[in-house]
Amino acid sequence: MDSKNELKYLKGGKYFYITLIICLIVFLGAITFLISAFNRLIVQHDEKLSGEICTIVSEKMSNSLLFMTDSALEVSSVLSAQKFNSPEEIYEVLKTYKGAQIISIGFIDENGKIYSSESEEEEFEKWNLLETAKKAAPVSISAPYRSKKIGQPVITFFTDFEYGTSKHGYMFMTYLFSSLQEVAATQSLTNDIEIWLMDAKSSNIIQCVGSDEHASGSWANAYLAMQNINPEDKADFDRWHDRMTQGATNAAVSYKIEDTIYSQFCSAIEYMPGWYVVVRIPGNVLSATMQIFRNYVILFILVLLVIVFILVSIMYISGKRENLMLSQLSINDPLTGVLNRRAFELAAEQMLSDSKEAAIMFFDIDYFKQVNDAFGHDAGDKLLVAFSDALKKNFSENCLVSRFGGDEFIVLTNMKSKDQVTERLQQATEDVHAIKLGDDIQDKVSVISFSAGVASYPKDASSLLDLQKCADAALYTVKERGRNAYLWYS
Ligand code: GH3
Ligand code: MG
Repeated sequence: MDSKNELKYLKGGKYFYITLIICLIVFLGAITFLISAFNRLIVQHDEKLSGEICTIVSEKMSNSLLFMTDSALEVSSVLSAQKFNSPEEIYEVLKTYKGAQIISIGFIDENGKIYSSESEEEEFEKWNLLETAKKAAPVSISAPYRSKKIGQPVITFFTDFEYGTSKHGYMFMTYLFSSLQEVAATQSLTNDIEIWLMDAKSSNIIQCVGSDEHASGSWANAYLAMQNINPEDKADFDRWHDRMTQGATNAAVSYKIEDTIYSQFCSAIEYMPGWYVVVRIPGNVLSATMQIFRNYVILFILVLLVIVFILVSIMYISGKRENLMLSQLSINDPLTGVLNRRAFELAAEQMLSDSKEAAIMFFDIDYFKQVNDAFGHDAGDKLLVAFSDALKKNFSENCLVSRFGGDEFIVLTNMKSKDQVTERLQQATEDVHAIKLGDDIQDKVSVISFSAGVASYPKDASSLLDLQKCADAALYTVKERGRNAYLWYS
């Protein structure tokens, strides 16, 4: 048995590892708690801030629509100061207002005839624009539609206009939908913020600003677009949507898609009944810096933890090595390295209490004194070492080998089978017979042998002391009968 296993019977201590593991668990628990608290703070911060940004952006978007509405109203009021008799006259003046953003400007007379630079009839019919025009009191805004002429999404503003003798007509101005995007875009959040116009009744949304620039002006359905919302947030989303259909001026909601929390805000558009500006922001973009800081903190703590762990382990291992050395010094016979008597008795008590069956063997080298006397103490020492090596070799697994004193050795094994013990004893006999002390000594000394007595636990005795006595008695018998043999106590 190696010294570590011998120590197993001499020491109980695994407390260091248990304490270390408990400390580690408590520490990791505390770190996890801290990080989750920090994450919660980040989420709260994100929700609050993104909600506020959504509000500001949606107001900005509403304002940009209002700005276009105001321009249309302004043109209308300037023109109404003049007295026009025919729609042709009105259109002639109107033409001169055409600005860069306006892709089409014109007039609709009381019979629904359209006056504009290009033929608009087909477009008006397709998108039911006359109906929208008639709602102008004083302004109405069309739903965004794709202009056939330019192949891009546009939006048309109508203002009612009186001419001649109380005749009722309408002025219209068509803007490129992308000009709305330019007005509402927020530079620093360009890639993260999304802005739509939404028709609450149909849930159709048209993108104004989004990460995919080319998707601007494309239509989608809010429910289809949001179908991968976290199921727990679906009810909140529905409630938010219901508020729009019920005509609320604004409403906010936040929901999760995969790991991202989005804040979404809508505000009603004046002059566009049932239409809303909808702004959405993923919360995490706002706290990106805080998250980087958090990751650095985590990294720092982990590195610290690893360093502390390594230091503690080094201290423990070197401490343990010292302890092992010290304990080996106090438990091992310095000449042969096997257990000394005191250590053996302590370990043997423990081993017996752990074992159901065991055998104890008392060994005594035959005529050892003669080797000492004839060849000196050094030769005697050499023999003691060679003899203990033979014992260690044959009784290595689950055995305690000890030098009891002088040329006496004792072995305790918890091998269950008697045959197995006998087989080991036989092999030890042969190994001891083969011990060579050196060419000069070997010629003068007859073969080296031992006598041994063996007792079984619990058959022969139940205590260590009684077992030793039994084995000693068997050994005595062997000595009496002439040595060089082993005998089981009976
Ligand atoms: P027996 O066959 O009856 O055992 O006879 P023996 O000669 O072996 O007699 P015994 O067992 O009494 O001899 C023990 C001797 O061992 C006595 C002592 O001088 C010697 N001795 C004790 N300790 C040591 C030691 O550490 N080194 C050496 N070289 N000799 C020792
Ligand atoms: Mg002897």
